[in-house]
Amino acid sequence: MKNRNKKIYSSWPAGGQAHNQKSGRHPGQRLALACFLGALLIIASLSCAVNPVTQKREFMLLSPSDELSLGQQTNTEIIGMYGVYQDAALNEYISTVGQKLVSVSHQPDLPFNFQIMDSPVVNAFAVPGGYVYVTRGILAYLNDEAELAGTMGHEIGHVAARHSAQLYTRAQAAQIGLSIGAAMSKTVQKFAGLAEAGLNVLFLSFSRDHERQADDLGVLYSSKAGYEGDHLANMFVTLEKLNPSSGKDGLPTWLSTHPNPPNRIEAVKKAAADWKAANPGAVAAVNRDQYLRKLDGLVFGDDPRQGYVDGQVFYHPGLKFQFPVPAGWKVNNTASQVQIISAKEDAAMILTLASEKTPDEAAQVFVDSNKASVLSSELKTVNGFETRKLKFALKTEEGNLAGLANFIKKDDRVMMFLGYSLESQFNSYSEAISATLNGFKALADQTKINVKPERIKIIKADRTDSLANILKPYSFNADKQKQIAIMNAMELSDKVGAGTLLKIITK
Ligand SMILES: [Zn+2]
Repeated sequence: MKNRNKKIYSSWPAGGQAHNQKSGRHPGQRLALACFLGALLIIASLSCAVNPVTQKREFMLLSPSDELSLGQQTNTEIIGMYGVYQDAALNEYISTVGQKLVSVSHQPDLPFNFQIMDSPVVNAFAVPGGYVYVTRGILAYLNDEAELAGTMGHEIGHVAARHSAQLYTRAQAAQIGLSIGAAMSKTVQKFAGLAEAGLNVLFLSFSRDHERQADDLGVLYSSKAGYEGDHLANMFVTLEKLNPSSGKDGLPTWLSTHPNPPNRIEAVKKAAADWKAANPGAVAAVNRDQYLRKLDGLVFGDDPRQGYVDGQVFYHPGLKFQFPVPAGWKVNNTASQVQIISAKEDAAMILTLASEKTPDEAAQVFVDSNKASVLSSELKTVNGFETRKLKFALKTEEGNLAGLANFIKKDDRVMMFLGYSLESQFNSYSEAISATLNGFKALADQTKINVKPERIKIIKADRTDSLANILKPYSFNADKQKQIAIMNAMELSDKVGAGTLLKIITK
């Protein structure tokens, strides 16, 4: 959960989504219906569009302007969920490299937008309409500007060739319901607003053919923009070494959304060599040192300042609160909310900022927008905070829910802390939910507040020696050494030349 002055993302039930719930539909469903109706209207004349990359005519439900508005909506949701990494210079650098690639792409006039997501997960992705994202997690594992350009070129390729629009068209047509909380009970999940239709597009995999084409485009665009085209292959080698599982903050990893075509590395190298043969004398910059210098100080791994679990307690140093986490429940901390999910994924607690000024206003909006029945309501001081406490029940299309809600006045904000399950199971969860909601209190322990994230530091090898020997003075444990080797695309036994820049991890 990120400490923000300005609320840019309104999660359920405040704001727009609450409004949508009145109509019994989620915003994505509404959009899909609108797109579908729109598509029906124009289908006679526009059932086929020319693909900018292949120049072939293809069936497409989304028009370019639908694609743009879908992209804008999804972008707001993605930023709300993951947050933009707060480093203006680094974001600017990514944009500059991105725009160079766009100018040589098949869609040079599409207004592309490049952002760094504040997530440790190793990923880069694009959504329709020209929104391209790289995580700070993937930046930490890239080793030069040519690798960055190849990776971004690949994502720009997905947009330019309209892969994500095709994917979205298919997903909507088939009504595939994918979600952030993998196997979570559909009712609990839908109610939590976790299944944002716009975000679902991130969890869809492109086909192998799309991946092959995006690889080709990544090589083409990065080569045309003056970079060494075959460095895209280095990124695949690093990713395979990492073989990361799905990200902790709910963001899928690059490998999990990018099916790996066989011989991908060879194919990239061949495409790059072919381009060079056809364009003799072209500049092929790598810019290793420039790139690495930009990474100095980059936050690495989870950022505890945005909330962390220690023992059975969740601490938020930025917003200065803590609450107990029941044993066996999973915590998913996103930029806009903290989700605590029961082991069986059939009960959930959600802590989020309300946009109203007082606990009573926030409670009223909650009750009205969900047509909730209030079973009990009291205004109490809980751990020093004015709190409106509700016990509620409500009906959804999928079943009846029961829950508790605390609307807590802390500093100049109201925080909404909800816990709920299917009504039939509520008795078995009410005690755990009540203990967590009523355990919300101020965080004053300085040792819990003054946590620091790990950061990347760029060092220069002062002599020619093995990577292991160069790292020796830092006394990293074996796991860290391995991680640093992968991060530098090296083996610990590799010889490092004097003057070579290296990434290490420090606090
Ligand atoms: Zn891809």
